[in-house]
This record gives sequence, C-alpha cells and structure tokens, in this order.
Amino acid sequence: MSSAREYQALVRALDQLPGIGPQAALRCARWLLQQPQNSLLEALQAAQRLQQCPRCRRYWQPQPQVEFCCNSDLGHADLLVVVYDDDVEAYRQQGYRGRFFILHGLLSPMQGIGPKQLRLSELVTVLQREPVARIGLCLPSDVEAQTTAYYIRQLIQRAELPIQPDVMDVDTTAGELPWPI
Ligand SMILES: [Zn+2]
Repeated sequence: MSSAREYQALVRALDQLPGIGPQAALRCARWLLQQPQNSLLEALQAAQRLQQCPRCRRYWQPQPQVEFCCNSDLGHADLLVVVYDDDVEAYRQQGYRGRFFILHGLLSPMQGIGPKQLRLSELVTVLQREPVARIGLCLPSDVEAQTTAYYIRQLIQRAELPIQPDVMDVDTTAGELPWPI
C-alpha cells in the first residue's frame, strides 16, 4: 500500500467518528500525523488496555479476580443512565452512590447510530440480572436525547420489568440528580 493510500485509509477511519465529516477527518489526520510517534503509541496502548465493564459499561482496565469496576455499588436499588463515561464523576461528586449504565452515545438515524450500535438491549439484560427500583434517564434536552429516552422507556416496558422509569431532561454537564439523595 502506498503512503497516499494509507493516508486515505486514516482519513476514512476518522470519518467514521460520529459528527465528523470528511473535512474534519482531514484536519484530524493532519493533526495526528504532526504528533510525536511516542505519544500516539502511548495513547493507542492505553486504549488497548481499556475494556467496557460488562455491568455499567464504564471504561476500565480489568484486574485479576475483580469482575466489575463497580463492585462497590452491588445491590444498590437506583440506576442512572448517562451518555458518557465522564458523566459518572459529575453524579458521584454530588453524593450519588448508586449504579450507572453508560450509553456511549445517543440514537441518531442521521449518523447511522441505532439501538444496535449503542447495544441498548444490554440495559435490559443488566436489569434482568440485577433488578433496580428506579431509573433516572439523565440525558440532555436535545432531540436525539429525547428519542433515546423514548426508546429506552419502550424497551423497559416491553421487557415487563417492574420499574417505572423517571425520564428526566437533565443537562448532563450540570449533572443534576433526578431525585434528592
Ligand atoms: Zn462497572
């Protein structure tokens, strides 16, 4: 493969990122190629070490004899559904000690992100395995978040889980809790 083809392959790979168009993918590729090789290698190695926790889907580095990253909240009756890994800290800082489920994105038909891409059925699996009393859908107030919240509510209803989800229009950057602690 010639270097030009490799360059195009890099741009195409970056173009797959949600919300990145061909022009932004080009800018990202140029930026990446200007970084020292060592720092790129370190970033890639760190990414390779990380896995999603099978329970909350937070990124973590698995350790021997530790099944989940979130063992400390085992048995807790509250669960917050948040969009990104970083949202977890915002809620923990406010004293929330319950469980989390991280979506890693929102439904966006325009960008080809459907329930399959977000693996939303895993939420039902998690809830069936370890039931909760209440769920807070802590999503932003935009259209994609509302679509995602609606889909999750339907998913929970269809699975006939004994939960009434509290659908909250919470700005995740503020990290407001859907109920008082
Ligand atoms: Zn976890």
